[in-house]
Amino acid sequence: MKAEIIAVGSELLTPFRQDTNSLFLTERLNELGVEVHFKTVVGDSRADLVAVARIAMTRADIVILMGGLGPTEDDLTRECVAEALGIELHRDPEIITELYKRFAERRMKMPENNTRQADVLDGAVLLRNPNGTAPAQWLQTNWEGDRRYLMLLPGPPQELKPLFDSQCLPRLKEVLPPQFISKRVLKVAMGESACDARIAPLYTKVPNVQTTILAHGGEVEIHLQSRADRQEEAERRVEELAGELEEELDDCVISSGGESLEQIVGYYLQMRGATLAVAESCSGGMMAERITSVPGSSRYFLGGAVVYSNELKTKLAGVPAKLIAEHGAVSREVAVALAEGIRERTKATFGVGITGIAGPTGGTPEKPVGLVYIALSDGKDNEVVERRLHGDRERIRLWASFTGLDLIRRKLI
Ligand code: AMP
Ligand code: MG
Repeated sequence: MKAEIIAVGSELLTPFRQDTNSLFLTERLNELGVEVHFKTVVGDSRADLVAVARIAMTRADIVILMGGLGPTEDDLTRECVAEALGIELHRDPEIITELYKRFAERRMKMPENNTRQADVLDGAVLLRNPNGTAPAQWLQTNWEGDRRYLMLLPGPPQELKPLFDSQCLPRLKEVLPPQFISKRVLKVAMGESACDARIAPLYTKVPNVQTTILAHGGEVEIHLQSRADRQEEAERRVEELAGELEEELDDCVISSGGESLEQIVGYYLQMRGATLAVAESCSGGMMAERITSVPGSSRYFLGGAVVYSNELKTKLAGVPAKLIAEHGAVSREVAVALAEGIRERTKATFGVGITGIAGPTGGTPEKPVGLVYIALSDGKDNEVVERRLHGDRERIRLWASFTGLDLIRRKLI
């Protein structure tokens, strides 16, 4: 089933108002197994509204229009939908009576144009709107031989949401075939395009699993989702593809159940009964922050030092001043010395050292902004990686902390 959502209102085409209702509706529809294929925003213009309503009928099974149900001249949704579908409107006497009553209760005379809110599409069911005056409408109809479900909803979110949940959802559930969803998120330590190049040949062969790739702060998330008329079938499809992707991506897979990198690192450290300490320069404590964001991290994280100045690199992490003078604070050697020094001073199993140039200033041709060294020491072996990161200060710091965490993960796999 395909859905199209049409947000009606000239204000939604300005920089000042946004169509937020469609996010709510999309979430609800997705839960029912309905994909939103189109979202349209249209101003309060008769010709445009008729045109988009017609187009929607040609390409979606479910068409939801919202906004433009009020009493004023620019509230055109009802009449434009009628025109687009080639059906008539009739005035509902009950609604008229209710409107008069509502105004009378407030000791007000009802302006004549309010009666427009009682216009109903022929064949439509009126849906009462307890939070406003404009009732919504539900219409089951045919378009060139195909079934269509049409909804006209009020624009204000506080009216639309309860109305949709209480009156549209049950009706949709009744007419839609039952659907079961299975989802899975793989997190991967790899560039977005490199990841896609590796897995596209696999997932494009499985069209009944929807695969989405999202990149964020050094890691890539692969979202897998499948719908079927049986739960086991949806699960089987997702599990099968997830297995293939995991095999292809091998040690680049951080987690396959949605866990974060810091959670996985914590899990591995705890399994080994190992502990960790960090000495961070350019990442300014971001790595420690990420590790400690996981509840229970005190079991494996001893702590660390933010050693921004050369003096503190020496004082707190034991980096020889001579080493800094010789190689510079941003160097392989200093990264290793930070890792070793903090490990030794804290008696942790592992020490991580991070040093680099976060920018935007401070770069030189030999040591440009984005150059970062990240080292891991376990007292016997040292590993150090050099990264030339792109982007702004925040991104470089984020990636540096990500790389530090990933270095431990790879060591412990
Ligand atoms: P209307 O039903 O066209 O009179 O819309 C009334 C008000 O509802 C508008 O001024 C907006 O503030 C709000 N509204 C209408 N459509 C939307 C939408 N798609 N998303 C969020 N708010 C909306
Ligand atoms: Mg409007």
